[in-house]
Amino acid sequence: MKIYNTMTRSKEEFVPIEPGRVRMYVCGPTVYNLIHIGNARPMIFFDTVRRYFEYKNYQVNYVSNFTDVDDKIIKAAKEEGVDASVISRRYIDECRKDMAGMGIEPASTTPLATQEIDGMIRMIQTLIDKGFAYNVNGTVYYRTRKFAGYGKLSGKNIDDLRAGNRELQVTGEGEKEDPLDFVLWKPKKEGEPYWESPWSDGRPGWHIECSVMSQKYLGDEIDIHGGGEDLIFPHHENEIAQSEAATGKPFAHYWMHNAFLTIDKVKMSKSLGNFFTVRDISEKYDLQVLRFFMLSAHYRSPLNFSAELMDGAKSGLDRIVSAAVRLSELNEQKEADGSVLSDEDKQTADAFVSKFETAMEDDFNTADAISAVFEMVRYINASLNESSSQAVLSYYHDRLEALCEVLGINTSVREELLDADIEAMIEERQAARKARNFARADEIRRELQDKGILLEDTKEGVKWKKA
Ligand code: AMP
Ligand code: ZN
Repeated sequence: MKIYNTMTRSKEEFVPIEPGRVRMYVCGPTVYNLIHIGNARPMIFFDTVRRYFEYKNYQVNYVSNFTDVDDKIIKAAKEEGVDASVISRRYIDECRKDMAGMGIEPASTTPLATQEIDGMIRMIQTLIDKGFAYNVNGTVYYRTRKFAGYGKLSGKNIDDLRAGNRELQVTGEGEKEDPLDFVLWKPKKEGEPYWESPWSDGRPGWHIECSVMSQKYLGDEIDIHGGGEDLIFPHHENEIAQSEAATGKPFAHYWMHNAFLTIDKVKMSKSLGNFFTVRDISEKYDLQVLRFFMLSAHYRSPLNFSAELMDGAKSGLDRIVSAAVRLSELNEQKEADGSVLSDEDKQTADAFVSKFETAMEDDFNTADAISAVFEMVRYINASLNESSSQAVLSYYHDRLEALCEVLGINTSVREELLDADIEAMIEERQAARKARNFARADEIRRELQDKGILLEDTKEGVKWKKA
């Protein structure tokens, strides 16, 4: 399997630290508001990476945090006149709902920055002890120049950075030894949440959070570290400087970054105000459509959001789900016929699967993987029907389901009846009864029963419940 590693700017063969296992860390959102669909891109993509590894029988330890202490959270809390934890808890809950809607499996561990402060204090102390950090009046800074590899991820030259950052020296950061030094710990301001530390009552900088949470739940060295490409510099560069200085070991073996979701070709972001929240989108579309839309492009290509592309994604997704539902029905209707899969049928089916896998193994090319699924669906629609053998139907059914599972496409949703559909069927049954067409009325009752809906005729009319 090949993965494009931002560190080496090339596709490399994936070799896990431990055979059969993957340790991956993906930077999670800062929770001060509902997430927007730009934030959803790394969530959906890295969830698919995880699912593919699981499909290939790897055991994946997937850690993704919530940043629940930050200037923006504190600002939102002040505006509402509540505690910062009220804001962060509220938006963690909302984010989890959005993630469930998008078919994102909960991470193996979802650490919260505020629950990991002790570990952060310990790592900062280690960095001070090793000469990589220093305290000035309660603020602890990382001594950037001391870390020889600084700039290796982003490809930046430390001297160019210095020139670019010079103006910082005249904007109140004069206490730093070097303008490139960044904050590991800062003292509280009045009314802000804080924790006690050897240097001041205060709170950690953002970068140290991820170094500590990754080390705690995955160990000093991890396989994959992921996030959006805006995190390459300074966030991930700083994480490397902290983690590698603290442990003396290479931090992540593969650095993966998704390109931006754009709108009118401009990065979607809270600060520009050009965003849709996942919640906005859920009012118009099933969030499965949003997921499918995101996966329809390669993760390292920018993806421009538009209603036309979403409508295209919707019909593409419908095509796949309908084929899966039809196969499932054909399969269920078949009596066991003792049929055996012919070599030819097996090879035809396996060729689609192999095309899918080849695309995924080439740096997770989900766009080409989806094309392979479409080819399979076209074949299923054209070639499989009531007269196909049970062996063929069930083989295709299982393969298609497995590929949908990797993409996070839920094929069972469409089989569930909506409340409105149930009501409509009940009305039709009432009409049939009125017309004394009892056979049709019974048929409708049975159809509903098959779908797990039980009817009860009461004095107030027909009531229904799920079995
Ligand atoms: P934030 O809450 O801003 O720290 O972002 C959480 C995650 O979303 C990070 O991995 C960001 O890189 C990613 N992200 C933010 N905006 C976009 C966007 N427009 N397109 C793709 N990823 C984004
Ligand atoms: Zn991070």
